[in-house]
Amino acid sequence: MEKYLSQLNSAQLEPTVQIEGPMIVIAGAGSGKTRVLTYRIAYMMSQGIDAFNILALTFTNKAAREMKERIASIVGASEAKNLWMGTFHSVFARILRSEADKLGYPSNFTIYDTQDSDRLIASIIKEMNLDKDIYKYKQIRSRISSYKNSLITVRAYFQNPELIEADTMARRPRMGDIYKEYVERCFKAGAMDFDDLLLKTNELLTRFPDVLMKYQNRFRYILVDEYQDTNHSQYLIVRALSDKFQNICVVGDDAQSIYAFRGANINNILNFQKDYDDVKVFRLEQNYRSTKNIVNAANSIIDKNQTKLDKIVWTANDEGEKIKVNRSLTDADEGRFVANSIFENKMNNQLPNSDFAILYRTNAQSRSIEDALRKRDIPYRIYGGLSFYQRKEIKDVLSYLRLIINPADEEALKRIINFPPRGIGQTTVDKLIVAANGHNKTIFEVMKHLDKAEVNVNSGTKTKLQDFVTLIESYQVLNQTADVFELAEHVTRTSGLIREFKNDGTPEGVARMENIEELLNGMKDFVEGQKELADTTGSLAEFLEDVALATDLDADKGDSNHVALMTIHLAKGLEFPYVYIVGLEEDLFPSAMSMGTRSELEEERRLFYVALTRAEKQAYLTYALSRYRWGKLVDSEPSRFIEEIDDTYLDIITPKEERRFNPMLSADIFGDVEPNKIRYKPAKQVVLKKGNPKSEPEKFQISTPKNLKPVSKTHGNTNLFDSKLVVGNVVKHIRFGTGEVLKIEGSGADVKAEINFQHGGVKKLLLRFAKLEVV
Ligand code: ATP
Ligand code: MG
Repeated sequence: MEKYLSQLNSAQLEPTVQIEGPMIVIAGAGSGKTRVLTYRIAYMMSQGIDAFNILALTFTNKAAREMKERIASIVGASEAKNLWMGTFHSVFARILRSEADKLGYPSNFTIYDTQDSDRLIASIIKEMNLDKDIYKYKQIRSRISSYKNSLITVRAYFQNPELIEADTMARRPRMGDIYKEYVERCFKAGAMDFDDLLLKTNELLTRFPDVLMKYQNRFRYILVDEYQDTNHSQYLIVRALSDKFQNICVVGDDAQSIYAFRGANINNILNFQKDYDDVKVFRLEQNYRSTKNIVNAANSIIDKNQTKLDKIVWTANDEGEKIKVNRSLTDADEGRFVANSIFENKMNNQLPNSDFAILYRTNAQSRSIEDALRKRDIPYRIYGGLSFYQRKEIKDVLSYLRLIINPADEEALKRIINFPPRGIGQTTVDKLIVAANGHNKTIFEVMKHLDKAEVNVNSGTKTKLQDFVTLIESYQVLNQTADVFELAEHVTRTSGLIREFKNDGTPEGVARMENIEELLNGMKDFVEGQKELADTTGSLAEFLEDVALATDLDADKGDSNHVALMTIHLAKGLEFPYVYIVGLEEDLFPSAMSMGTRSELEEERRLFYVALTRAEKQAYLTYALSRYRWGKLVDSEPSRFIEEIDDTYLDIITPKEERRFNPMLSADIFGDVEPNKIRYKPAKQVVLKKGNPKSEPEKFQISTPKNLKPVSKTHGNTNLFDSKLVVGNVVKHIRFGTGEVLKIEGSGADVKAEINFQHGGVKKLLLRFAKLEVV
């Protein structure tokens, strides 16, 4: 252990060897907070503390796994195995599993993922005959989620006139009824959604003092990483569990609190010292991750926030390169810049793809980047999309398995009752739902006793329903003896799922088959792994719980060599040698939806701080002057965050893609524009700080209605950018069809026309992209 402790600096060593009592480590990015937690656990074990008494909560399961591996390498694998480590959700799902009966749930309860929740909410909205344009299921879901994370139960909701009024003002007076119905349906289905895993844990610990005591005694030492992003529900769980022994160690950085929109409460970290007696506070100041330029630039950014704890972050690392800022004309150009830059860096420095990450504010931005990476043959992986387990065919298989162990699971049943098609139509399913609701039974129970439930279906349908029940019951019998793999293999074959996808014959069907195969392989691994450990049961329930809580970050075994694409939110805690932060434009980042109040803007700024501090060697900031958003070309301005960085750390690079407009400069390496067709003055090198580059005066002037002249047609598409378009012209656009020019404004590269299209209405288009043809 001594050897390992010497890998810490003295400021890190102090909290590492301080085992008893409440303590908090507040420190900036890259200063070793996670390292301290990891080494601290190893140290505790080396001091004789039983691994069973330690609970460590991390932000992702991947982080927990990596931490555990590191600890295993220090204290040995057999010891580390007994540590309780994971996300709040995975740890407390496990606890709920063994205490479920106290709350009236089956121990095999299902975990509904967001897709299941969405479907159930949509179905409730439909059953209640509400307008789905006003009652948008996603909004309703996030509302319910925020109630749950603030511990506002249905009863508490109806007792709170302010909440009711707020929803009524938002034109959703039935919100409370939906919430009530949703909660009841989940309960009846023996299902908990993600937020329930925390809410029900709180209920368990509050209502059952003996249970609370059991886990307080068990988890004598509690550690929490990324404490700044805990929500109220998580906060209460940690408080309750640590209340007896007060051996609680949290680490975090208020400057990296970025989940307020999901209920995270920055006050949890700010008030920690008030919550416990004699809190020891530790600060770390030395950053080991990044170059001086990156650390200093990040400091200069976060300095702009008013709400913050004062912190010092410095590094002994090299000065490094300045942060490169690149401006592009369009989002497509931005993608090309990033792809080319990665390619060059890879070639010049012989680097693996995994050294690079591209971070963006919203998932939608990945498309243009992906296109460019593909063209350059750079392997990449997008994180945070649909996880493997949420793919259609996988969910189909999993739904069978879910139904086997929990026949009450309504969403699983609805999904597969007629898939593969077995002649049970939607009308029949609707009748079953009505009967189930009316008799307070589950749909499966209704199906077992069709006559008792007074479901009015013809005898043919009745047989089909009974056959389905028999099929599921036969699987339940098999589940008594078979392992997860054997069961799933049998189910996919005999249910007709495999046949269904095979018969499909399309490439999509083939891909689906491959995914199912992959799922079965994963199950085989799971079963083997369980056999090796020999101390767990390896049950189907456990497997389903694992996959319900898996994110695609967890699926990453770290062995593949690809560029990582993800949102900044997902990148928290991670690090990469080269980081590209793209789409640094006003309204995108900071997001248009988050500029209303100072606190929202400050959260955006923290997000930018998180993004920048992921970089070890080199950071790139890129923005485009226009980009497609919601199917429209929108002009944009560089993000204020670029301006906020101290000049000394920036290197504004020549926007390469603008060179292509000048045939005198380098040959067009991008290949999709023929330079000699376009007459465009080369863009000047613009120093960002001197104002908006778009407002640079341009000599090019579009005609006014006075110098009316017919537009010459060349090669079909006339490039109107260097022609004379006037008000009243009728033009044709590839997507919008024909339309009349109403107005022309702007100058130079910014000339826009307002056009009234026959199909599509009035649009404002930048002429240099619009590719209009005069008709
Ligand atoms: P974040 O706020 O981003 O979560 P953090 O404070 O948790 O960052 P770590 O991830 O623990 O920081 O550490 C950042 C990097 O610095 C890691 O690669 C880590 O291994 C390394 N590091 C931390 N402390 C030391 C040290 N004393 N000596 C060498 N490397 C260190
Ligand atoms: Mg960390």
